[in-house]
Parts: sequence; C-alpha cells; structure tokens
Amino acid sequence: MASLIRWALNRIPRPVLQRMAGWAVPLAGLFYKGHRVECPVCGRHYRKLLPYGYVHSRPNALCPGCLSLERHRLLWLYLTRETDLLRTHPRTLHIAPEVCIMRHLKPHFAAHPERYVTADLESPLADLHFDVQRIPLPDASVDAVICNHLLEHVADDRQALRELYRILRPGGWGIVLSPVDPNRERTFEDDTIVDPEQRTRIFGQYDHRRIYGADYADRLRDAGFEAADIDYAAAFDEADRKRYALPEDRIYVVYKH
Ligand SMILES: [Zn+2]
Repeated sequence: MASLIRWALNRIPRPVLQRMAGWAVPLAGLFYKGHRVECPVCGRHYRKLLPYGYVHSRPNALCPGCLSLERHRLLWLYLTRETDLLRTHPRTLHIAPEVCIMRHLKPHFAAHPERYVTADLESPLADLHFDVQRIPLPDASVDAVICNHLLEHVADDRQALRELYRILRPGGWGIVLSPVDPNRERTFEDDTIVDPEQRTRIFGQYDHRRIYGADYADRLRDAGFEAADIDYAAAFDEADRKRYALPEDRIYVVYKH
C-alpha cells in the first residue's frame, strides 16, 4: 500500500489525484476499521491510518475519512482549541486551503459565510484566485489568515509575507506553516535548481524551492510580524499524540501589532 500511494503521488497529475482520492481513499478505509486512531478533523475512528509520502512513506499518516495528514490534525486542534476562530468568526482568509480543514471549517461560518474566504492560485475549490506575492485585497482588511505549506513553493516568499502582513489588520493573527528542518541552522534556497528530480533530491519535493531551517520564525519577523514558535504537539500526552496520530511539527503563529 505504501509504495502504491508513493507511486501515485509522484506520477499522477495533482488535479487527477485529488479527484481520485475522493473515492479511492475512503474505499481503502473500509479495510482500516477500528478504534485505535481518531481523526480530530472528521471525528472518525480507525484501526490505523493510511501510509503517505512523496519520497519516504510515513505509516499511520492519511485519514481515510477526510484525507487529513498529521500536520492537518495538529493544525485543526490548534485552530479549534487555541484560537477564537469558531467562537467569534473573524474575517478569515484561508490561502491554499487544505481541503479537509476547509470542508470542516466552512459549516462553522454558516451564519457569516462572507467571513470565511478561501484563495488559491488555481484550485477551482477556492473563492478567490491570486498569486500570494500580489494579493488583490485592501490593507488591513482581514482579521485572521491561514497560509500553510505554500511559502516553500513561492519564488519570493519574503514578498508573500509582506503581502500577508499588509492585508492583516492591526491586532490580527495568522498561522503560517511550512516544512522546517530544525537541524538546519539557516534556510537553504537556490534559484538555479529548477529540475523536478533535482528539487526532490535537494528540497524533498519536486516543486519546492527551498528548505527552511531554524531561522524560519525570523523570516516571518522580517515581514513585520511578531512570531511565536509553538511546540504544540507537546501540549498532548503520549497517548493522545498516538490517538490523533500527530506529528512533532511546530505551529508558527504570527501577530500584527
Ligand atoms: Zn479524518
């Protein structure tokens, strides 16, 4: 199963893959019935989750019910337990929306649907379409921004961060996550590496342009934000980390004063 999923991720175009995942993964879920793992996003229970990964497959990663990955589950727990998102329904811009998070957040904004807006460069599922380096929204027009696993794909990530800062209102907050290699002191990027196979080897995925290091939060701060680097998985005990199949990823929260 692990090598089949890895093959599909690397060989099947993403739009086709996304359409296939809608029925193929829940079908696979029939073989994973059980109660050992609980997905906090969709609330379903399984014996274990599906393996997932472009280069190396991680066991117990992909929820057959909602397609959440480890980082989506950690993000969901943070958003729903630690922010005012579901309580006060701030004007929220969700860029490059994770489908599982979007589907489960949207119903909470049913009374104020205009306050939850999704955006993507091209996804037909998104409300707005734009390049994050040039956001077509007025200054200080958004209360909260969610923008994850996008910056590593963007040519000028510093410009994208300046744009996020500009559209956020003073007092607003955001979650801006990217893959970070904590063993790397400084972010490594090289514009001359454009070949997909070379990018996979060097950056870990065929369409990544850099690999962030321990200085990731500093890059967020360079755009003007106050940035908090939170070891949120540590807020859960071992049993819950296993139960929700959580990663050791950190949550980066930005604030604009
Ligand atoms: Zn799920």
